Amino acid sequence: MVGGGQLQEIMQVAAENWERVFKSANGNWKLTIEYGWATLVGNLYANERMVAEGGNPSRITHSCILFNNAPEPFAPTVGLFADPTPRDNSEFLTYTSNAVNMGDGWLNAGRVFSDAAGDAVNRMDLLQAAMHEIGHALGLDLKYSGFDTQGNRRLVEVTAPRPFAGSAILIANGPHIDGFPQTPLMIERPLSGARQMISGADVLLLAQLGSVNRTDLTEPSLDENGNGNQSIATSSVSSSPTCPTNDTTTDTGVW
Ligand SMILES: [Zn+2]
Repeated sequence: MVGGGQLQEIMQVAAENWERVFKSANGNWKLTIEYGWATLVGNLYANERMVAEGGNPSRITHSCILFNNAPEPFAPTVGLFADPTPRDNSEFLTYTSNAVNMGDGWLNAGRVFSDAAGDAVNRMDLLQAAMHEIGHALGLDLKYSGFDTQGNRRLVEVTAPRPFAGSAILIANGPHIDGFPQTPLMIERPLSGARQMISGADVLLLAQLGSVNRTDLTEPSLDENGNGNQSIATSSVSSSPTCPTNDTTTDTGVW
């Protein structure tokens, strides 16, 4: 793998990044993710499939994430980049954070490292893909009841006690965020040669879908991960009966 990084460490860092934003949240939420490499249809970098949900409010408790070991990306993207040091973002020379005026305050809607250097140039960042797929596993999944009852309306209304209550977030192109001029992590088309981080808009949308209170929408210090009560357990698998590799009815996007 170009870059020399390991999927196991990259998934661990991706999970920690999501745990940080949910660590101040109400209740307990334990999500188990099985992940590994597989041969997927060529247009996909990776995909996620919910296995089970449960609890009250119901949240996803078990999911599968598979990464394509032979993706066929469009030029100029030439393949995946596996960061050997995923806890820092040193391969990217520029960081941009953008907020949008929601009427009752500013919501961060894009946190992006760009200007890739070295092996990361013109490649799809595997950490970015891992964070994106975990975002699906946290609620942006067509099979999840929280998405089915809210997201399939194509417009998710934010309700109290979450901040920005009364605003709405657009859903489009499958279970993806849309409508922001900035670049949230959960948009349909990933940036190449960049690292899209978890934005406030991504967190707010997932908090709404999963009925989560008290998420962290603040700007984190760069290169800092956190640990909290909410836990994402990841386990590497070479093959698993719960993780089907191809599904032509849902494999329509790229990630
Ligand atoms: Zn996606």
